[in-house]
Amino acid sequence: MSMPRLTINLAKISANTTAIVARANSQGIGIIGVTKGCCGALPVARAMLDGGVSGLGDSRLANLARLRRQLGKSVPLYYLRLPMLGEVEKVVAIADVSLNSQLETLAALNAAAARLGKRHGVIIMVDVGDLREGLWPDRLPLLSEQLQKMSSLDILGVGTNLTCFGGVMPSQENMALLLECQRELARRLRRELPLVSGGNSSSLPLLWEDKIRPGINQLRIGEGILLGLETALRQPVPGLAQDAFVLEAEIIELASKPTLPIGPTAQNAFGEQPIWQDRGWRRRALLALGRQDTAPTGLTPLDEGVEIIGSSSDHLVVDIEDSGRKWQLGDTMAFRPGYGALVGAMTSPYVAKRYMWR
Ligand SMILES: *Cc1c(COP(=O)(O)O)cnc(C)c1O
Repeated sequence: MSMPRLTINLAKISANTTAIVARANSQGIGIIGVTKGCCGALPVARAMLDGGVSGLGDSRLANLARLRRQLGKSVPLYYLRLPMLGEVEKVVAIADVSLNSQLETLAALNAAAARLGKRHGVIIMVDVGDLREGLWPDRLPLLSEQLQKMSSLDILGVGTNLTCFGGVMPSQENMALLLECQRELARRLRRELPLVSGGNSSSLPLLWEDKIRPGINQLRIGEGILLGLETALRQPVPGLAQDAFVLEAEIIELASKPTLPIGPTAQNAFGEQPIWQDRGWRRRALLALGRQDTAPTGLTPLDEGVEIIGSSSDHLVVDIEDSGRKWQLGDTMAFRPGYGALVGAMTSPYVAKRYMWR
């Protein structure tokens, strides 16, 4: 067995999806399953589809292109990152829908769609305060005037993204603003717009309390499905599994060492100046797992009494003094990855991936 290794429990991913979709559907909301935390991996995409998502979304075109080849035309694919001007033809060729905030990009998508003889769906992203992507609401009139000329685009509605950059939580106020933008755009375009894509996993607490504003009819969910967490406070969502992913690494050194490095200290390999606390000599393990494999700060040891004390490109150092277990050289230690650690492990060619169906 090749180490480090990420084990992916597809039954848990599928069950998490089912639970979220059931809650959402009962409130008239469809779920787009977001695969970017897993590099758009086909087994994960399939588990989400099993769970009833109405489409798949990813922030990388390469992932969507692969999913398109593997899944065929029947599954709606959403491109979640705003398109680069240099990739609009690919976006139209691969994705059914893209999220957009920029007039020039929309014009380029429209021209590309016309050239390819295809129609392309767009969701107009509105910035309701988080300050990542999104049109400022007062620009809607100008945008809608220009959109009317773009005859190869299907304007599907508006969307917003929250709690990703500014940390702004979904609220009754910002949801109301989004719905107001939808009404204004529909009125100016003189057509019905089917979608209001109201947010991501930070909306799950509201979904669980039945407090998503009526009219919002789509959420784009990644972390909630994969890790069972909402992303505003990173709390477990009731009824969802938090352990669909386990990352394991092998112990390559076991020793008792001082906790305070010996000699004058400067920066470590990453330009950081670690601060050490003298706790005397303690037993520790060196693992063959580093920053080339994952984001070590996002790991939680599954064994009680194990504490991560540092990492470099290829190594993780853990304190095992208080662990009840008698660790041996060659043992593997298991961790639960947070979102950053999961993305790191999924994108690293050095980490073996093992899929389990139960
Ligand atoms: C990543 C992403 C999502 C999904 O976010 P989660 O917090 O993982 O649910 C939704 N929408 C956009 C635009 C994204 O980039």
